[in-house]
Amino acid sequence: MNGITLHKHDLPAGLSFGPLAAVDTETMGLDPRRDRLCLVQLSAGDGTAHLVQIIPEALGGQGANCPNLKALLADPDVTKLFHYGRFDIAALYNALGVLAAPVVCTKIASKLVRTYTDRHGLKELCRDLAGVDISKQQQTSDWGALELTPEQLAYAASDVLYLHTIWERLRGLLAREDRTEIAEAAFAFLPTRAKLDLLGYVDPDLFAH
Ligand code: MN
Repeated sequence: MNGITLHKHDLPAGLSFGPLAAVDTETMGLDPRRDRLCLVQLSAGDGTAHLVQIIPEALGGQGANCPNLKALLADPDVTKLFHYGRFDIAALYNALGVLAAPVVCTKIASKLVRTYTDRHGLKELCRDLAGVDISKQQQTSDWGALELTPEQLAYAASDVLYLHTIWERLRGLLAREDRTEIAEAAFAFLPTRAKLDLLGYVDPDLFAH
């Protein structure tokens, strides 16, 4: 498929995503403690995507043995760009034992500056900030399948292909609205927020009364 490369088990050695790597995950569900990590998608913002399929050892895979992917997630010189990173960071930490950092999140940025709307989904940001219409049809498909369909791979890639464009727009809005500093503080806290989720501090939240 055009610009989409599927890797089983790990990224190849020596692959660089530059200083800002868009990252997304697909899992078996919405609970990062319960639902296994199936796919990690990455893009350098160059119109191409690399997808890493995480296959359990019991199914003939290598499980969490993905040193190149882990090194990238932990690399202090590579900022990981997520949309709703709170979930992905928790899922990655739970499955691979590596805490992604440093990170930024387009959903948090959008909530800080696009206060005129309550629509902060990736589909809305792609449409409003990148002029791209992405389909969410495959979102609820079976990501645990050993052979993913071309439709699944295209969908998974679309979740990282436009994040750089969206982020550039949001960065401008954060500066315009004087919310860059509070955004940076929120991003710095995000890995801890994910850890708190895994510890069960979801509802009630740690900060709730
Ligand atoms: Mn996704």
